[in-house]
Amino acid sequence: MRNFVMPPTPIWPVDPSAPDPTVVRRAADLIRAGRLVAFPTETVYGLGANALDPAAVAGIYAAKGRPATNPVIVHVADPVAVPAVAATWPDAARQLAERFWPGPLTLVVPKAEAVPDGVTGGGPTVAVRCPAHPVARALLVAAGVPIAAPSANRSGELSPTTAAHVLRSLDGKLDAILDGGPCPGGLESTVVDVSGPVVRLLRPGLITVVQLEAVVGPVELGPPPAAPGAALPAPGMLARHYAPRTALECAETAEEAGFLAGLYETAGLKVARLIVTGAPVVAAARLYADLHALDEAGYDRIIVTLPPATDEWRAVRDRLTRAAAEE
Ligand code: AMP
Ligand code: MG
Repeated sequence: MRNFVMPPTPIWPVDPSAPDPTVVRRAADLIRAGRLVAFPTETVYGLGANALDPAAVAGIYAAKGRPATNPVIVHVADPVAVPAVAATWPDAARQLAERFWPGPLTLVVPKAEAVPDGVTGGGPTVAVRCPAHPVARALLVAAGVPIAAPSANRSGELSPTTAAHVLRSLDGKLDAILDGGPCPGGLESTVVDVSGPVVRLLRPGLITVVQLEAVVGPVELGPPPAAPGAALPAPGMLARHYAPRTALECAETAEEAGFLAGLYETAGLKVARLIVTGAPVVAAARLYADLHALDEAGYDRIIVTLPPATDEWRAVRDRLTRAAAEE
């Protein structure tokens, strides 16, 4: 565990389409030495550590201030690396991986013995993803180990889509940042549990439910009902998450947003209005960057006009409503 003060974190620029192997090698050596490296993926920046090294994984939780019950996603360079982390590979996992990997889809499956409890929150399953971003892939190949990586931000805060966002949240708490420019997707991966008899959507993301169902048939939405007497909700199901530091409220319509903004402005507050509209993939790509910028601008409130409640907007609405949730 890191209880000493670390120096400011170096940023290592890399060309996102053709990352310099020497720079990638330095980052991979850090991972192999049990250190923490942030790197770009097609979703958001991840805070990576060797997934098979319990002390390195503990470092992720310490840097983020992440609750130990919230498991992290394990990234692999290639589907052939899955058996190192998964005990079984159900049919639904195979079908979904064939269609969507490499890409922004995370599959929850029974974990292999070698995966430390720290990665899974102590549970019997592991979340696995094979990312498409060339920098993430190069790092995974060079490291030669699976990399556990949650989003590279303090727990509960906005995810980073640039190296500057990572630095703002975690400077001095990790060993290097591979800067491959802005992440193209801008929202976290879709998380699907394929470890049981039904396929379950645990977190909406860039791959939509309609896309999943075209491959595996019906998908249940959300975690299974809590077992009687269960002390904790399913992992990652915290109501408040993905939140800017500025208080944020959601409105379903422009009228409602105008009404809310008027109330706060009358009370003397500085109010920012964000209208989420247009093409869902374009809006997703810029959502966190816009929220980071509004955070920096010193508003008292952010009022967001939500997009419609359709499948293609599901992930954006999920993040915004969680950002607005009370602690
Ligand atoms: P983040 O790493 O910050 O993008 O968040 C990872 C997401 O994957 C969270 O919602 C986790 O709860 C979820 N996740 C990771 N591992 C598991 C698992 N074994 N079972 C269920 N959800 C998981
Ligand atoms: Mg996160």
